[in-house]
Amino acid sequence: MITSSQLKAENATRSDTVPAGDYYMQVLKAGQTLRILDLEGNQAADTLFYNADDPSERYSCMDTIREQGNVYLTAGTKLLSNDGNEMLEITADTCGRHDTLGGACSTESNTVRYAIEKKCMHACRDSWLLAVAENPQYGLSKQDITHNINFFMNVPVNKEGGLSFADGISGAGKYVELTAKMDVIVLLSNCPQLNNPCNAYNPTPVEMIIWD
Ligand SMILES: [Zn+2]
Repeated sequence: MITSSQLKAENATRSDTVPAGDYYMQVLKAGQTLRILDLEGNQAADTLFYNADDPSERYSCMDTIREQGNVYLTAGTKLLSNDGNEMLEITADTCGRHDTLGGACSTESNTVRYAIEKKCMHACRDSWLLAVAENPQYGLSKQDITHNINFFMNVPVNKEGGLSFADGISGAGKYVELTAKMDVIVLLSNCPQLNNPCNAYNPTPVEMIIWD
């Protein structure tokens, strides 16, 4: 569902540009709104959320899909935790649809999907592992890296239940906004993938903007 935001950039609390291949790790306080802005278009942003007070509670794609009865995420979607609590709500979306089934790229999946020699290519899972290693204050480790959301990524589900990575439906300047219902750790990998069309074979930066 296409829903525009009323929030104005000049009123934002902070704004960070995340280059392709880099990560973003910040606490979003309850009541704050985060905009993920696809600056140049057709970029995938692989994202995990944790309860900042107890990171063992985290985003659950199964609970979210089951409760909303829809495999795609868009404005109005409540992002639920593994404890069934509402962590965030998508409050604006000018892209229209986001994936939570395709998972994140890893060196292992690059090897299986593409070629053995892709093993050394940078992948989202590596960015997340670097993030948790460089930010021990959050108390996260490798075992906390679980299923995620791929904002802006187009992963159509066919009648047989199969998935494919298709050309993106996002464009330059499109965005998604999430309002936090609890204090959450946002862990985003701005995807460096070059082997499928999720980034149009040209990974580009995203902007992370927070309003109080
Ligand atoms: Zn990726």
